[in-house]
Amino acid sequence: MGNRQKYEEFYRESIDNKEDFWRKQAELVEWDTPFNEVLDYSNPPFAKWFPDGKINLCHNAVDRHLTERGDQNALIWVSTEENKSVEITYQDLHDQVNQAAAVYQSLGVGKGDRVLIYMPMIPQAVVAMLACVRIGAVHSVVFGGFAAHALASRIDDATPKVIVSADAGLRNGKPIPYKPLLDASFEQITTPKPKVLMVNRGLAQGFTLGEEEYDWDGEMGKNIGKRVAAVSVESTHPSYILYTSGTTGTPKGVQRDTGGHAVAMRASMKHIYDLQPGETMLTGSDIGWVVGHSYIVYAPLLTGATTILYEGLPIRPDPGIWWSIIEKYKVSVMFTAPTAIRLLKKTGEEWIEKYDLSSLRYLFLAGEPLDRETHRWISGTLTGSVVDNYWQTETGWPILTNFAGLGLMETKFGSPALPAYGYDVQLVDEQTAQPVKANEKGSLMIKPPLPPGCMTTIWGDDKRFVETYFSRFKELMYASFDYAMHDDDGYYFIMGRDDDVINVAGHRLGTREIEEILCTHPSVVEVAAVGIKDELKGQEVVAFVVTNQDMGPAGEADLKALVSREIGPIARPKHIYMVNGLPKTRSGKVLRRAILSLAEGDDPGDLPTIDDASVLDGIKSSLKKP
Ligand code: ATP
Ligand code: MG
Repeated sequence: MGNRQKYEEFYRESIDNKEDFWRKQAELVEWDTPFNEVLDYSNPPFAKWFPDGKINLCHNAVDRHLTERGDQNALIWVSTEENKSVEITYQDLHDQVNQAAAVYQSLGVGKGDRVLIYMPMIPQAVVAMLACVRIGAVHSVVFGGFAAHALASRIDDATPKVIVSADAGLRNGKPIPYKPLLDASFEQITTPKPKVLMVNRGLAQGFTLGEEEYDWDGEMGKNIGKRVAAVSVESTHPSYILYTSGTTGTPKGVQRDTGGHAVAMRASMKHIYDLQPGETMLTGSDIGWVVGHSYIVYAPLLTGATTILYEGLPIRPDPGIWWSIIEKYKVSVMFTAPTAIRLLKKTGEEWIEKYDLSSLRYLFLAGEPLDRETHRWISGTLTGSVVDNYWQTETGWPILTNFAGLGLMETKFGSPALPAYGYDVQLVDEQTAQPVKANEKGSLMIKPPLPPGCMTTIWGDDKRFVETYFSRFKELMYASFDYAMHDDDGYYFIMGRDDDVINVAGHRLGTREIEEILCTHPSVVEVAAVGIKDELKGQEVVAFVVTNQDMGPAGEADLKALVSREIGPIARPKHIYMVNGLPKTRSGKVLRRAILSLAEGDDPGDLPTIDDASVLDGIKSSLKKP
């Protein structure tokens, strides 16, 4: 049987016979109380997976592996910021997690209480997460790069009993003290101040602990050798809250369950990522993002694999750092965002070719569009396969992907391939809600119930969950807010966010199409195209371009001609601006909304998730040039 046929059968079974399908997948994890019912969908669109089963996530991620893999590394921490690496076996991890769970209990944390984790990429962050789910507490990891305001709004939303933090993060060798940010956020919150547990890395000068603030090492020291039983929780019990990236608006507090989450994570390793127990995975992301939750922490540990936690930049001390880690630890599967690969593309393939990467079977990329040129470049440079996968914080694992575990199918550059099992993906016309034909753009919707592992609601706000995601049409359908098309072969192409359509004199153009074409120019590294208001045509295209060399005075005209030639004169940008960088979220997504505001002469407003605000000035000055 060919791989495509194998996939088709697997996929059909997951949609037409979902209960049997997921009952089988659920055997991949260990249940404390086996479930009888696979799915309770009596209250659409709320799906309860394995509702009468009981399970513990930490037991499955740690304890379960002790007999066979106690001495195997669970976690390898590599910090190019501290120039250190630390190896932690499953046995060590078990000890630390038990200790941390005892610390939580001493601070009054119990089942259902929230713990906010605001930390750099250090092993204690992973320990802090696992210790929560061990006792049924709900973690909410907030990316360590966020400042006081973003932190305060998340504290007010999640109302944690405890915040775990550290004295400082490191970026480019410079400490970024967290305590002042924490203290400033406490000034802004309207809910009670949580207790604080601080890891002291010895990086920030003179921070002091206030009332109900504790030192991590001190508290852990009081609990050496303590054992805290993993609490059996209902499959539907929340395991964590994670806020979306905030690319398009206020972040939404995505709530994930326990049983469905465990099953989905473990199954994705088997069928999609093809990581075997005992193998090693490197995910270049941050634990503050969903990719970090799923593919640094939960999926590899649930699989009994070794996960690498990397603190540092992908190009420091040099652009070969990730590849040297792959060589050293014989990494089998790597995962990161396209933006990181574009950064490496700028520095050249010699940094990759220097290393023995024969262990690396796959590189998975997700989080934003992977343009064809970058996909082609990295595929040609690595011997392993490069797989584009499309998903969201909301889903926790791929919606569209190729399937390494089932047997890879054909790769089409620019396409994250086919719907993952469990997702009844529909491309529909925005007006009529009717399915669009092949090669036509439509809104990407998912027919509920959403499969295991997906968000079960917005934290504390069922109404917002239904209104935000399921209210586009009369029929209940989950809206991804992206639009896409599929070709005759069923392969999907993501065209952009569904509010990114540019309408020039009635012609609807996807920002992605224009960006793809501009990226084919050898000097172009990165592009953002936006539609600015135009009295005559409704909207006009303008593009902001980052290049790897000065294109000279003819550059702008060349690029305009390229778009005219490849897409049509209608898409020809009115202006092309050469800039040094694009504004991005901390997770590497282009903030088109901010670029658009600037291009239309407006103030981009508050951008709490922006990575480097100084690029906004670069955009402003490029706009001023005649
Ligand atoms: P917010 O929802 O807060 O505005 P966000 O949508 O950026 O932020 P995430 O959940 O981190 O938050 O990102 C999911 C989005 O990223 C998808 O909806 C899609 O727009 C984009 N995306 C993810 N993977 C891919 C991919 N492989 N190709 C194209 N786009 C992708
Ligand atoms: Mg989103």
